[in-house]
Amino acid sequence: MGEIITRFPPSPTGYLHVGGARTALFNWLLARKTGGTFILRIEDTDLERSTEESVQAIFDGLNWLGIDWDKGPFYQTQRFNLYKEVIDTLVEEGHAYWCTCTPDEIETMREEARAKGEKPKYNGKCRKKGLKPTEGAVIRFKTPLAGATAFEDMVKGRISIPNAELDDFIIQRGDGSPTYNLAVAVDDLTMKVNTILRGDDHVNNTPKQILILQAMGEEIPTYGHVPMVLGSDKARLSKRHGATSVIEYKDMGILPDAMINYLARLGWSCGDQEFFTRDELIEKFNPDNIGRSPGVFDQDKLVAINHDHIQNKPTEEITNALIPFLEKIGIEAESRTQLEMAVKTLAPRSRTLVEMAENARFYFEGVKSYDPKMAKKAFKPEAISALTEMKAALSEAAFTKESLEATFKTVVEKLGVGFGKVAMPMRLAVSGTGASPDMYEMLEVLGKEETLKRIGAAITHIESLSA
Ligand code: GLU
Ligand code: ZN
Repeated sequence: MGEIITRFPPSPTGYLHVGGARTALFNWLLARKTGGTFILRIEDTDLERSTEESVQAIFDGLNWLGIDWDKGPFYQTQRFNLYKEVIDTLVEEGHAYWCTCTPDEIETMREEARAKGEKPKYNGKCRKKGLKPTEGAVIRFKTPLAGATAFEDMVKGRISIPNAELDDFIIQRGDGSPTYNLAVAVDDLTMKVNTILRGDDHVNNTPKQILILQAMGEEIPTYGHVPMVLGSDKARLSKRHGATSVIEYKDMGILPDAMINYLARLGWSCGDQEFFTRDELIEKFNPDNIGRSPGVFDQDKLVAINHDHIQNKPTEEITNALIPFLEKIGIEAESRTQLEMAVKTLAPRSRTLVEMAENARFYFEGVKSYDPKMAKKAFKPEAISALTEMKAALSEAAFTKESLEATFKTVVEKLGVGFGKVAMPMRLAVSGTGASPDMYEMLEVLGKEETLKRIGAAITHIESLSA
C-alpha cells in the first residue's frame, strides 16, 4: 500500500460525541503518523435528520481537539450525480436490478422466511424480470447466492459472512436517492480511501460495501472495527452517563490534549503508559494495539489525566487556556506576568481549568471572608503578635522565595514558637483558606503591598473577634 488515506465521515444529526471523536482521532493519528491523508466527509444524505448546526458542531468539536483534515469537507448531498452514475452502471452490467415489489409483498416474503425458520429477507422476486425504470421503484443489488464475503479486520481478525445471509439490498430508494452503503462505497473508492477505522456498529454494513466495490471491479480498503464506548454500567455510552458531547468537556475545563490522550487510551494501549503528549500519540499510535474489548468511559480518569497535562504544559500555554475561564467568572488579571506566576502556583492543585479559575479568585478578588473552620484554629488572639511581627519583617524583605523563607525563619525564631503558629495565620490572612498554594510562591505573586494590606486586615479582624 502506498500512502495511507483515512477518513472521518460523520452523519450531522447531532453534536460530536465521544465515540465519534475517538474514531476521528484514530484515523487522524494513523494519517499523521504515516504522513498520509485524513479526509472529512459529511454524510448528510438523511435530509430529515441532518442539520447545519450539527455540521458546525462537528467542525467545532474537531477544531477544539486539534484534529485537522487535509481534504474536504465533502458533502454527500453534493455528490448525488456521481452515485447515480455508479448505480446506472451497476444496472447496465447486470449487478443490480429494478424492483417494483410493494411493502405488503415484502412483508409477506419476510413472514414466509420466518415460517421456514430462515432470516427474514427479500426473496429476489424481481431479479430475473429485467424490469425497466419505473416511477417509485427501487434498485436492488444482486448479492451472490452462494459463497461468502470475507475480510481481514485490523481489530477483530478475519470476518466472513455467508452471502446467503445477505439479501438483495436496496442501493437506490423509490425517490431516486442512493442508500447509505452505496454512497459510502462510492465515496471511499473515489476518494481513494484505503484504510477505514470505524465503530463496530458498522460491521454489518461492511460486506455490502465490499460487494458493491467488487462488482465495480475495484479493490477493497483495509477495515478495522473498533468496539463501542461504554458507560460505567457497561451499557453503550449515552447521555444518562453524563456528558457525551466532546465540546461539553471544553466547558468543563479539560485541555484538548488531555481529551485526545484519554480518548486514545479508551480502546488503544501502548504498554502500560497512560500519559501521552500529542506528539507521542502520533509517534506511538498503531492500530494493531486497538483492543478487542470495549472501553469504559470514566470521567474521573479523564479529569486525572487532565491534571497531569495541566502540570506538564508550559505556563504560558495554560495561562492562555485559563483566561476565558477567568473571564467567565468575572476576573480580569491586569498583569500578564503576575497571572503567569499565579498559574504556576495553581497548576499542581487544579484538575481542570474551571477549578483553576476558582482557585485563582483569592489572588485577584482579595480575601472576602475567612474559612470559618480554619479561622477557629489559626485566628486565636496570639496570632496577632505573629502577624504583627511578620508584617514588620516583610515590610523590610525582598519578595523572592529565598528572602521570604529567611524572613519566616527569623520571625519564628524571634517568637520562639513552632512554624505553624506563624504560617497558619499567615496563610489564612493572605488567601482566606487553609488550602492554598506554596506560601513563598503565593506571597511572591501577591507582592509586598498586597500582602501587607491583607495581613493588616487580618489583624483588625482578629482584634474585632476578641473585643
Ligand atoms: N456516517 C457514519 C456514522 O456516522 C459513519 C460511516 C463509516 O464510518 O463508514 O456512523
Ligand atoms: Zn421486487
